[in-house]
Amino acid sequence: MKDNTLIFISLLIICIKLFTSCNSSKTKFTQKPNIIYIMADDLTTQAISAYGGIYKEIAPTPNIDRVAGEGMLFQDVLVTNAICGPSRAAILTGNYSNLNGYYKNESGGKFNSEQWTFPQEFQKQGYKTGLFGKWHLGTEPVGFDTFKYHNSAGQQGHYWDPVFNDNGTDVKEKGYATNLSTDFALTWLDSSKTSAEPFLMILQYKAPHRPWEPDTKYETLWDEIEMPYPATFNDTYEGREKTAGDTEMTMEYFSRRDMKLERPKNLKKGKESIKWDFYGAKPGEIVQPKGMSDEEGRKWRYQNYIKDYLACVKSVDDNVGRVLDYLKENNLEENTIIILTSDQGFYLGDHGFFDKRFIYEESLRMPFMVKYPKRIKAGSVNEDIITNIDFAPTLLELAGISTTQKMQGTSFVPVLDGNTPKDWQDAMYYHYYEFPFWHHVQPHYGVRTQKYTLAHFYYNIDVWELYDLEKDPNQVNNIYNNPDYAEVTAELKLKLKDLMIKFEDNKSLVDFRKITDTDFGRIVDNIKDEESVQQILTKKVN
Ligand code: CA
Repeated sequence: MKDNTLIFISLLIICIKLFTSCNSSKTKFTQKPNIIYIMADDLTTQAISAYGGIYKEIAPTPNIDRVAGEGMLFQDVLVTNAICGPSRAAILTGNYSNLNGYYKNESGGKFNSEQWTFPQEFQKQGYKTGLFGKWHLGTEPVGFDTFKYHNSAGQQGHYWDPVFNDNGTDVKEKGYATNLSTDFALTWLDSSKTSAEPFLMILQYKAPHRPWEPDTKYETLWDEIEMPYPATFNDTYEGREKTAGDTEMTMEYFSRRDMKLERPKNLKKGKESIKWDFYGAKPGEIVQPKGMSDEEGRKWRYQNYIKDYLACVKSVDDNVGRVLDYLKENNLEENTIIILTSDQGFYLGDHGFFDKRFIYEESLRMPFMVKYPKRIKAGSVNEDIITNIDFAPTLLELAGISTTQKMQGTSFVPVLDGNTPKDWQDAMYYHYYEFPFWHHVQPHYGVRTQKYTLAHFYYNIDVWELYDLEKDPNQVNNIYNNPDYAEVTAELKLKLKDLMIKFEDNKSLVDFRKITDTDFGRIVDNIKDEESVQQILTKKVN
């Protein structure tokens, strides 16, 4: 009898414990989280100290690293089409370019704003929504209670005294873009923090996009030192002559404007000045001080470039710090999810390049980190393959929003919880279309697994490339024709075909080329400033 009573009491305690724990895990996330989505433009993992790399000690990013340190750092978040507008469209819709219709920047037209995007869903489901900084899709943002976005130079924006579209009205602001966008964001946060609804804030920096103009206080930050060079700085493109070896994004293609050379005073405004500024961007034009050898000139251009780029990143880092401090000071940390990312990666002299576009690692990999103290283990690192079409379904699930909207991406909330599903994607599909402007990178599609990259470059060449990422992480040995990899290649081609079918992009090369050739219109309606440079440069088509 005594024993039975004890068993009964023990069982009762277990039941109560089970009940209360179930109950608490159910109630744990009932309070809707706030979401702050911070995206810089062309920010790459090599420039973020949380990812390590050669600039880690010289140019650390302590505030961005705080997001990673207090949350989860992702090592394998990949972009489906490594260029600004198309990546943004994929993020907003959860769909590949072939479904959202936004394939290219140059002649890519305007993003069809009548289609569904995740901010619209948040707004519909009771969130306060705000957008600050760069939008860059040609059309006005939809789904925001408030917006203030860069509206000069075809929504590309300017670093200094930029024009912003403030809820429908253009306003010229005074100051530095990265600081200004954060000012607007914090002002809005301040007005939103006491409202009953949760908020979704999208803060998208123009920096560190070309022309890499630092804040005045950082202009001469590293003048006294020589920045290190990436391992593939002197890539000879052997075995990749028609692809990596035939671009206009090497150290030879920096313009006078990129190098911040001072324009002669006697030049007329308009075409004459533009032509002078953009000298260097065409084949055969080299910008360097007189008397330098080719190698010295190449290093001089890299040093100017990398110092300006990293100085722009420093301002982004400072401003991320301002947002983090604000949340802390206002007791918003616990219930606010912070995402920090970029629209793609970028080459910082890797393979001798600047810019992006290629399936090669440095532009394919996106910086990505999420902080959500309630749910995500601080200091965790994840290596699963995730792509930018997975962002929208994930954000919606985190907010407890269900939708019937069709998205090709998959929510990775289980990954954030530390429980990656056994059947999680082991490969991603990539497709880049824009050619020849800008930078003359051949259109290509491909598949990337954690071990291999297989790509087909097809516009007016027919070149396959295969890289063994374990043996050749720098991707300098194209082993497509190596018989030892015949079986691997055959398997990857099957995987690639499956992904093309899955993502509804299983078309003929003729159809793919049509997309490259189609002029969907230009984002710049009113061609009047330096962004119209392609009007002056002669188009080079092979
Ligand atoms: Ca970009």
